[in-house]
Amino acid sequence: MIKAIISDFGGVLTTPLFGGFARVMEAQGLPLEALGHAMVKASERHGENPLFDFERGRMTEAEFFALLGDALEEEVGRRVPLQDFAEHYFSHLSPNDELIAHLRRVRDERGIRLALLTNNVREWEARWRSLLPVDELFELIVDSAFVDMRKPEPGIYRLTLERLGLPGEACAFVDDLEINCEAARDHGIHPIRFESTAQVVRELDALLDAA
Ligand SMILES: [Mg+2]
Repeated sequence: MIKAIISDFGGVLTTPLFGGFARVMEAQGLPLEALGHAMVKASERHGENPLFDFERGRMTEAEFFALLGDALEEEVGRRVPLQDFAEHYFSHLSPNDELIAHLRRVRDERGIRLALLTNNVREWEARWRSLLPVDELFELIVDSAFVDMRKPEPGIYRLTLERLGLPGEACAFVDDLEINCEAARDHGIHPIRFESTAQVVRELDALLDAA
């Protein structure tokens, strides 16, 4: 029986992130693939994708953009100002009001508990929190940047279940990345891979009705 829904933030409760990245590069008059190439280069230097340590709160925003900025400069032949990345990025994100309303409905009408499990950035906390009423919606928020772990690491799922006081089998998990859904399944959690709001609403309702 499902007692809680654990939701991802970016790409589930917001419009897709891809558009955000594309617009940031577009504003600089640069092709999106240049950013991809720079990320590959930065990953080689850092030992893994630097976004991972950025999301674990082990790397500051300044350190992350210095590393990425160096790689991007080599890629495009000029220094690209990345300091207003977050501003561009968040100005093009909007909340998924339909899904948020549905989560609120299942909470209020069926007593389903709501948790947020997000890979996020410490310096961006005020920005992402201002996009939706997180504290009103969720009884628990697990943010990678404050727990030194990120999805799909097993520890962050264990921590979320522990803080909810529930076994994985009592939880549904919604995320737009397959790798995060697979990791949830390893903990007995019922994953729903976000493809569209209608599909998630349908699958959540089926899961809740199955009990
Ligand atoms: Mg996501």
